[in-house]
Amino acid sequence: MLKVIKNRIEQGHRTSKYPKEPIELYERFRGLPKIDAGCADTLVKRCADACPQECIDTETKQIDLGRCVFCGLCETLSGGAFAKFSQNFEMGTSSRDDLFTHGSLPELAEHSQTHFKKLFGRSLQLRQISAAGCNGCEADTNVLNTPFFDLQRFGIQFVASPRHADGIHVTGPISKNMRQATITTWESVPSPKVVIASGACAISGGPFYGSDEIVGDLNKLIPVDLYIPGCPPHPLTTLHALLNYFK
Ligand code: SF4
Ligand code: SF4
Repeated sequence: MLKVIKNRIEQGHRTSKYPKEPIELYERFRGLPKIDAGCADTLVKRCADACPQECIDTETKQIDLGRCVFCGLCETLSGGAFAKFSQNFEMGTSSRDDLFTHGSLPELAEHSQTHFKKLFGRSLQLRQISAAGCNGCEADTNVLNTPFFDLQRFGIQFVASPRHADGIHVTGPISKNMRQATITTWESVPSPKVVIASGACAISGGPFYGSDEIVGDLNKLIPVDLYIPGCPPHPLTTLHALLNYFK
């Protein structure tokens, strides 16, 4: 017992001070890209042709963050002249269109923010739906329950039953087999409720984009309130989006 207490004293307080204090991520982390719209058309086309997600629009020179898997290929190919990934992990949006970006994102829509803050500002219970993802998104969402992030200190927690939830947090590209289960779970959540699409798969199909075996876009099934891009989204991207939208 004394060993445990000694260890506890030595370990100290490990919970992150974010969002009260800024947090620095590992230098190789890829967050919101900075895009040079003045970059030569040929270079943009080269990046677009090589992009495994076909998410670079050569006309507008925008990247669709809802489909991007942050592989960094466009940055490497253009030597940072077209796209350069920053360490900004704050990428949640309340509109799908806002994920088509030149390198900046608008504030989360104020009217819906206020609405949801009034409803869930003090307590938010979410039911996780793993809809055929690779488990990357699920693993990085689980991390939020560790002492470092300690999601529950903000009054947010994941619950087992949709009937005890205020909304659903969906990951994965929604395979055909998960289609009805996703709808049924959403219907089981009492109103008012929220829908969160987390990760490239739930937003657009991600790496499974174009497959006949998936729904690929949660918005096709049910109206989405909050989009969290990434493959998977960094736990801080999820935390920032949840706090900004609901707290
Ligand atoms: S980082 Fe995104 S936009 Fe760039 S090549 Fe990879 S998937 Fe495409
Ligand atoms: S978005 Fe990426 S990490 Fe998440 S389930 Fe899809 S493939 Fe896996």
